[in-house]
Amino acid sequence: MLRRILEAVPPYDAGPPPKPKEVRLSHNESPYPPPAVVSETIAKAARSENRYPDPRHAKLKSSLSKYTGLPEECISPGAGASAVLDSLCTLVLEPLDPVVIPVPTYGMYGFLAMLRGASPHYVEFGPGFRFEPGRVLEAGADARAIFLCSPNNPTGATVAEKDVLTVAEGTEALVVVDEAYFEYSRKTLAARVQEFENLAVVRSMSKFFRLAGLRVGYSLAHSKVTAALERVRLPFNLSGVAQAAAVAALRHGEVFERRARETVAERERLLRALGRVEGVEVFPSEANFLLLRTREDAPERLAKRGILVRDLVNVVGLGAGYLRVTVGRRRENERFLGALKASISA
Ligand code: PMP
Repeated sequence: MLRRILEAVPPYDAGPPPKPKEVRLSHNESPYPPPAVVSETIAKAARSENRYPDPRHAKLKSSLSKYTGLPEECISPGAGASAVLDSLCTLVLEPLDPVVIPVPTYGMYGFLAMLRGASPHYVEFGPGFRFEPGRVLEAGADARAIFLCSPNNPTGATVAEKDVLTVAEGTEALVVVDEAYFEYSRKTLAARVQEFENLAVVRSMSKFFRLAGLRVGYSLAHSKVTAALERVRLPFNLSGVAQAAAVAALRHGEVFERRARETVAERERLLRALGRVEGVEVFPSEANFLLLRTREDAPERLAKRGILVRDLVNVVGLGAGYLRVTVGRRRENERFLGALKASISA
């Protein structure tokens, strides 16, 4: 009864659910709950949940248009960046289509491509996880989709605009730029999507805007691509609560910006501190997390001390000894540092 391909696709590992006492630095979430202006909006919107929400996301689109500077005809919201990525795959992928994915990167791209029977071609980054457009184009001569992530999860590196455009100009494939962590780098391809029909930017409100639990993401793409996305996405794909919360968050950008500045300062402090720890290699990042290389059993040892990080042993292009740590509150980062030092020397 089930499609045979389902047996061949490894399940996407979303990690364990949160536990109250652990220091959770495994999911690149914001450690701060939504501000009062947003949680009060959520409580109010919850009173209308007997009704279906606005299927056209009118208020949300208008807020996103102001936030991004793009017209509404270029914006399509989805239930998290994950759902938007899924819809983009629906637009372009047939079974056996080649899909190019520079690695190491976010595992969702390969997963979604495989679920459609398409075949991912993984291309390694250059030294120091540098993006090399030539390699991608070479691998992607007949690709239908190319997935770039900037800042890249889990390396933290961004892809330069000129390199993305080199790829977009040199291919017929849909070039997806996942900017889930855009607000930490402020580098974006958004202004170019009207010019390049085969370029689509994907954003998330799970990180900077602290709404991971409510599932809000959106695409920025050419009006033709956006119209197609609006056709394939499910109706009522965003709850009324999610839409109202997103609108409230977008209205109070400065509140989020203050916290993000703290996170970036903490990231730089953590980077310097980790750089001084013997047995640890750490990579610079433009997002709210850091990539580390250390002893293989570090994630397990940290977990025993109540600290959850992401073990990257199964990530294509990495392997045992790599882990990703989300930048948390200062006291969480301090606990992580202490536990890591203890784990390494034990
Ligand atoms: N893209 C990247 C690069 C991510 O790291 C994540 C979340 N881990 C997502 C997309 C998915 O985000 P969302 O919660 O909006 O589905």
